[in-house]
This record gives sequence, structure tokens and C-alpha cells, in this order.
Amino acid sequence: MTNATADKLIALPGAMLSMREADLMLGGSDKVLEIPVPSFLIEHRNGLVLFDTGCNPRVAVEPEAYWGPLAKLLNVRMSPEMAVDRQIRAHGYDPADVKFVVVSHLHLDHAGGLALFPHAKFFVVKGELPYAYWPDRHAQPAFILEDLLPTRRFDWNEVTEDTDLMGDGSLQMLKTAGHTPGECSLFVRLKQDGPIVLTGDTIHIRAQLETLKGMAIDYDLEQAGESIRRLRRIQDLGEARLWVSHDPDDWANYPHLMK
Ligand SMILES: [Zn+2]
Repeated sequence: MTNATADKLIALPGAMLSMREADLMLGGSDKVLEIPVPSFLIEHRNGLVLFDTGCNPRVAVEPEAYWGPLAKLLNVRMSPEMAVDRQIRAHGYDPADVKFVVVSHLHLDHAGGLALFPHAKFFVVKGELPYAYWPDRHAQPAFILEDLLPTRRFDWNEVTEDTDLMGDGSLQMLKTAGHTPGECSLFVRLKQDGPIVLTGDTIHIRAQLETLKGMAIDYDLEQAGESIRRLRRIQDLGEARLWVSHDPDDWANYPHLMK
């Protein structure tokens, strides 16, 4: 069975950030965009799957102490109930029932809630974990060591290529590296709403699908461009729709519950 479907896809709100378009995409304008930081909960018959974990709960209380200068630079706004475990509870699930966590990459607005799921099985593209612990100097502020250290003994599984997570075609990790060494996207097949790819930070805003340009802080700009091109092809061929995680229009336009 390679065309099975997941049962539900729920978009969970996280913090809001303010960023110039130019910082999200090379060649962008000075316009400041208000961007969401979602995580996604997926119901699959094998158990609950979480894609990304948002910001650490401490960011809601003491953003500058936890994130350093980036808290102000990104103008992070997060209320305590936006923590991913509280969002999961708000939808009637127990966070302890999350069996699988897939992380698009380990930047501070995606890896903040990792430690909330000590019993889950974690999936990440090989190369991301060591880089997050010991990044290049310029990339260092975007990884928070305290997000990662409590997870050292967790059940981490590193994949080296596209991976069919459940072996049934419903959830597939797509290696779309470049933004970071192990950036990935998640292909989700749904019965009613059809296939959709959660892009993580492979793409930050829809305009990149036209310009095919990455962002200044990308780990490997050429590879990032190739990965954007890959997602654009998926969209153009009608293989799936794309949900660009940080894109304000996608957040406004897609239903936050799909089946
Ligand atoms: Zn990122």
C-alpha cells in the first residue's frame, strides 16, 4: 500500500515574528512581514506525528534571556498557551501520545519544543544534529543549545535521503537541504484535501517560488536554490500543494484542520 492517507492535519499556531522581506529572500524589499511560526500535528493510524515544535515555552516568559539578541531583532511575540504541548492539549490530545516527531531543521523557532516529547521517536536529516550543536560562527545565534541538550538521550533517527516514514506512502520526508545542512519538508497525503507538502524553511515566503532565491543566512545558497526548485516542480506538476510554514498568506488561506 503506497498511496495510503493520514487521517488529519492540524496546524498549530506558535509565535509571531517580524522580518524584512529582504531578510527572508535575497533581492526582497524592505517591507516588514509579520510571519507565523506554526507546528503541524498529524493523526495517522500508527500514532500522532508532529512536524516541528515551535519555540521553547520560556520564550513566552523571558524571550531575551532565552533567545539573546534575536528576540528583539525578530520581535518575537509568544503567549504561554502557544507552546506546542499546550496547543496539542487544546485540540484534545495528550502530548505524551505523540509517537513521532519530524523536525524540518533545528533553528530556534522549530526546535524549541523538542524536550516536551521524551518518549517520541525523532526523525531528522543526517548532518543537522551535529551542525546544530556546533554551527558556523555566523549561524550560532539561530541554534539554542538549551533546546537540544535535554534531548541527547532521545530516540533520534537520522535519514540520509527521502524517507517513507510509515512505509505506506502517506508521510514522506523529502530531503530539501540548503537552508541548513539537514533541512527537510514533509509530504502528507490526505483523503479529502489531497497531497500537501509542509515546506519547513526550505521556502520562507511564496515569492521565492518565483525568484528561486534563498536567504542570506542559508547554509548553502546553491543547494537551497535547488531545493526551492524541487518544491516548485512538485507544485507545477500538480503532485501536491505547498504549505510554506512562515508565509502569512498560507497561514491565512489554508484551513487549519484538513482531512
Ligand atoms: Zn530556519
